[in-house]
Order: sequence, then C-alpha cells, then structure tokens
Amino acid sequence: MTPNTDRNETLFERARRIIPGGVNSPVRAFRAVGGTPRFVQRAQGSCFWDANGKRYIDYIGSWGPMILGHGHPAVLEAVQKAVMDGFSYGAPTEREIELAEEIASLLPSVEMVRLVSSGTEAAMSAIRLARGATGRSKIIKFEGCYHGHADALLVKAGSGLATFGNPTSAGVPPEVVLHTLVLEYNNIAQLEEAFAVHGAELACLMIEPIAGNMNFVRAQVPFMKRCRELCTQHGALLVFDEVMTGFRVALGGAQGVYARAIPGFAPDLSVLGKVIGGGMPLAAFGGPRSVMEQLAPLGPVYQAGTLSGNPVATACGLATLKEIRKTGFFDKLALSTRTLVDGLKAAAAENGVPFSADCEGGMFGFFLLPQLPENYSRVMTSDGARFNRLFHGLLDRGVYIAPALYEAGFVSSAHSPSDIAETISAAKEVFATLA
Ligand code: PMP
Repeated sequence: MTPNTDRNETLFERARRIIPGGVNSPVRAFRAVGGTPRFVQRAQGSCFWDANGKRYIDYIGSWGPMILGHGHPAVLEAVQKAVMDGFSYGAPTEREIELAEEIASLLPSVEMVRLVSSGTEAAMSAIRLARGATGRSKIIKFEGCYHGHADALLVKAGSGLATFGNPTSAGVPPEVVLHTLVLEYNNIAQLEEAFAVHGAELACLMIEPIAGNMNFVRAQVPFMKRCRELCTQHGALLVFDEVMTGFRVALGGAQGVYARAIPGFAPDLSVLGKVIGGGMPLAAFGGPRSVMEQLAPLGPVYQAGTLSGNPVATACGLATLKEIRKTGFFDKLALSTRTLVDGLKAAAAENGVPFSADCEGGMFGFFLLPQLPENYSRVMTSDGARFNRLFHGLLDRGVYIAPALYEAGFVSSAHSPSDIAETISAAKEVFATLA
C-alpha cells in the first residue's frame, strides 16, 4: 500500500479519531460541500497555507475577525507586548476600559459595554439582560439569523404564529424554546401580527441587520423601520446582533448604515464579536446605561466570565480597531470588496450562470440565483450541487470561500488588487465549467 501523501487527509483521519467529526466547529468539516477540510498550517496577509503547503486566497478570514488580514505588524506587536506582561489575571485591567471606551465612541447607541469571550456568550447574555430589564420572557428571532448556540436560540419556526418555535438541535427541550418566536426575515405583515398578539410579553427582538448566516441578506429599510417602531411602541428592546457586521460593514457597524437610511435610528442593545477581538476570543454587548446597569454586580441580572476582557485579546482588539479607524480605511476596503463582487457578476454573466451578489464594507455574499433573495427560504432555493462544484473549482485554483452556500464572505485590507484579479480569473474558469 502506498502511503497517503495528502497531509490534509491524514490529519483529518487522525482528527476524526479524537474530535467529533474531526473539527471543533461544524462548518469546518466540509459536510455540505464534501471533500477533505484543509488543515491550516500558517497564514499571512490575505492568504493561508494548508498542511500540504498549498496557498489559498482566504475569503473567510476566521469568519470575519481578520479584517486586516493575517499577521498585521501593528497587531502582532501589540499582542507580543501584551503576552510578555501575562496571559490572564482574573482582575481588571486598563485595556478593558480602553476597549469599552473605543466601542462606545464608535457606536452612538452604546453607553456601557460588558466584555465576554464569544459571540454566543454575548448574544445569550444580551437576551438575559433584555428579559431582566423588561421583566418579560418572550423573544423574537428570524429564520436564517444565527446568534450563537445558546439553547433558547437554536430554534426554527413553528407551525403558526400562535405557536412558538421548535428546537433545531437535539438536547434542547421544547420547554426551553417555548418563549422564542421565529419569524420570516423581511416579512412586515408577520412582524405586525406577532406584535399584535404577543407585544406585551416581548422582552426583545434580536436581529442580524445584514444577515451573514444566510449568506448575505439585508433587512430591507421599511422592515427595519417597522422593527424599531414596534419595539418602541410595545416596550420591547431592539437587539442588533452585530457579531459579524460590527466594524466590518462600516466603522459605525450596520446600525450606522441603517441610521443613514432612517433618521434617528438606533438599536437598544448591540451584540459584538469577531473584529473587536481581531482574531482573539473576545466579544461584547452594550447599550444604554439604564439597561446595562441591571447587570451584576450592580443589578439583578447575573453574568460573569473567568477569561472575560482577557489582556491579550483586548490588546489584539484595540490594535485592530486603531487600524480600521484610520482615514479612508473603509473606503478602500469597500472598493476591494465591490471590485470582487462586480468581477464575479461579470464572470458569471459571460458564462450564462444565474448569479446575484451584494456587499457592504468588507462583507459580501453571492447566490447562484438570478435575483438576491430576501429571506431564508429563498436562499435555500439555491442550487446546492452547483455551488459545491463552484466551491471545489475555486479551492483547486487556490481560492478559499466559505464551504457552504449559506455563509457570507469577507475581504480584508490585505487583499491586493492582484488577489482580487486572480480570484476573478479563477471564477471565470470555474463558471465556464458550470454553464
Ligand atoms: N452572532 C452572529 C451574527 C454570528 O455570526 C456568530 C458566529 N458566526 C455568533 C453570533 C456566535 O459567535 P461565536 O461563534 O463567537 O460564539
């Protein structure tokens, strides 16, 4: 028998013996697209190299955090310096204040911030806070939005508005999701009906304003406006999950984007992650002082974390935010992303492949559909088999996009015009095989 020289395959085999499915987060396993996951050896700038030493232009960027690309010198320096002073103390540090101040200065809706270690934790804690602050139990989420894997959020729509959702994971008792109402994204009529029936019991409405967990779907402006109005009218908190969009679609997050379209617009609470940690485990939630002061140790809503505000993670996050604050950063990033998206559209059109795409700042999405979908069920009408051929065609050509058709893509400031051009020409070749 000849030994297997594909190190990704041997590592995957070894991983599967000790880690369920061989991965520590399901989407990494290539289950949707088939084939062997690439084990990353190292990354630099816009690229990473797999266990065989093959190079890929990276469009996942750790699913969003790596907005400066990999190994940005200023971030590396900040992290190296922080590490020398210790990894974790379990006592407060100045950098936690600086990061909280930085977040509050960039998001006008945020007066106070609590730092945590993952987006899941941040979203789960924001919901507990909304419930504690309002004294109500029920929450609204939308089909296709992901807010981490807290029990109450692993829910899909029930059979009708009067019934609440059904768990999407084994191990979540139906009683636990009894208070979670799951609605269709961008459906104003359903939203109005839900508030008419349950308005007085609703603690919050949680939404991904630009949903990156069903690829890339924007909440339409009239829909978002109605979300705001109904929350205000019924005393429910509007919670923006900006784990993905925060400091990624614009310096002011998606809330900044909507505030430009809806005068005076702001969410009540914001959930953040990814970019604010620059690739380190760091996330946060924030909002008005009156609500945030309900948290322990001041208020009755309990929330805690051994590694919260970790000194290395805050150094990494602060160094990252400092770079993205620089004049012109987002204009340049948005231009790279727009060039990529337009190039992909043109390449698909040349080859007669139905294709639609959208982007904002450094986040993009595309669909093998003639028109942009507005909700989860439309997203899922995409041709999965065709997407898989596109994915593997790009992968073979050294372009790494998300290994599932319902995930967004990310461009970093390290992506050069030649990276973008190389990606478009790879896509052209693959589209020719799909037509
Ligand atoms: N909210 C959103 C919008 C996300 O995209 C994610 C993760 N992709 C989460 C929450 C959960 O974050 P984490 O994986 O850090 O727990």
